[in-house]
Amino acid sequence: MLTQPRTQNRPKLAQRIDRLRAFFQEGHTREVTQRIERLKALQGAIEHHTDDIVHALKADLQKPGFEAYFEIIGVQEEIKYTLKHIRRWTQPRRVKTPMYQFLSTSRVYAEPLGVVLILGPWNYPLNLMLTPLVSAIAAGNCALLKPSELAPHTASLLTNLIQKTFDPAFVTVVEGGVETSQALLAEPFDHIFFTGSTQVGKIVMAAAAKQLTPVTLELGGKSPCIVDSTAHIEYTAKRLVWGKFSNAGQTCTAPDYLLVDQRIKAALLTEITQQIQVFYGDRPSQSKSFARIINDKQFRRLTRLLEAGQILVGGETDRETRYIAPTVIDHITWDDPIMQEEVFGPILPIMGYRDLDPVIAQMHQRPKPLALYIFSRDRQTQQRLLQRIPSGGGCINDTVMHLTVPTLPFGGVGASGLGRYHGKAGFDTFSYQRGMLDKSCWFDLKWRYPPYPDKKP
Ligand code: NAD
Repeated sequence: MLTQPRTQNRPKLAQRIDRLRAFFQEGHTREVTQRIERLKALQGAIEHHTDDIVHALKADLQKPGFEAYFEIIGVQEEIKYTLKHIRRWTQPRRVKTPMYQFLSTSRVYAEPLGVVLILGPWNYPLNLMLTPLVSAIAAGNCALLKPSELAPHTASLLTNLIQKTFDPAFVTVVEGGVETSQALLAEPFDHIFFTGSTQVGKIVMAAAAKQLTPVTLELGGKSPCIVDSTAHIEYTAKRLVWGKFSNAGQTCTAPDYLLVDQRIKAALLTEITQQIQVFYGDRPSQSKSFARIINDKQFRRLTRLLEAGQILVGGETDRETRYIAPTVIDHITWDDPIMQEEVFGPILPIMGYRDLDPVIAQMHQRPKPLALYIFSRDRQTQQRLLQRIPSGGGCINDTVMHLTVPTLPFGGVGASGLGRYHGKAGFDTFSYQRGMLDKSCWFDLKWRYPPYPDKKP
């Protein structure tokens, strides 16, 4: 990436990026020991600010304390895992050299990319900024973070936390809305890591293309949950209800809709109803374990989605507090509005099926989802669905939990995203592999130099 000319007249934002670039180019991020120290500093800062984080998430989303700790633990686990493996990941890797290059050595170096931009969404506003930051630091980059304007308390907490922890020439936070994102996208970065909607992902990719900046796109989509007749009814209901209604359904990997074998549909729906009652009580609006919808725009969009099908559980809403009850809607068809967009809220549409083939055929008509959830105790069905339905990731007999496993690369496919992170996959995303041949000077073979002979080499 070319260095921008550094002049007094450059706008403030560009000057901040210049500072990051200078810090990177001066080599202050290369030492692995320094990367380790910085990751530990981040670990300490998060620990120190745990209560503030929980408060900020509550202020933005009414996020229950336990769910807020989940966000925090997710980042802390990522740091721990990275600290455990970083020395190995950063070691140059010696690879085989062909005979015709004898007396040479070949090595692959994991090189930092430079200055990276991390753009985040509002639903897990802390975790989705700091988890990629851990990988960016581990790989030796400088970073500029732009948190979502729709979670302002968390955004300002992040600014504060990062300011106290890092030199602003190393990591800095820029707060602001869409215009700020657009201004940032017009600047040169060495990588853009975007988490958000598919629609904005396209804008990010188009802007990045103008500067040939590589991108990681962590997007959304409709993640199906398929339950066959062999599924364990109680565990399926618990794991599905938890995955769907945590954070009031505002989770990118939440099971978006349920497809259930007709033979067990009634039993499963009874158990789902029961588990919602166990988790959130008779009046979920009073439950301390249930979050709220982020803003009025999302609230209005979600209440419109309540219009199709037959409400089996929930359906109550309160505009004032942006409350939408955990809701289950039966008798949905593929053509209903709720099946045309990512739900991203506490509404579970349900369809029954008799035969899996038309289900698989429907999936092939639709964008590839971020996650696929298969509830079945039959290995053949599991394998069949895995092979026939693409997805970024997913679980067999669970929901959402795959993203807590640091050895599993996390990301989408097709419309649900591009690229991977978490653990080593995150380190790789923020590095490039530099292949270097190291040649001996003991002697030099003549055969490759002109004048060339007429015959084939
Ligand atoms: P969003 O795409 O609206 O916003 C994300 C970021 O992009 C914000 O920082 C915002 O300021 C910026 N932005 C918004 N409009 C822009 C524009 N026109 N130009 C440039 N920048 C712009 O997403 P959101 O509403 O914050 O988050 C919800 C979406 O994110 C859902 O689709 C969800 O599935 C997805 N998501 C995906 C993951 C994942 O890991 N794959 C995680 C969380 C959320």
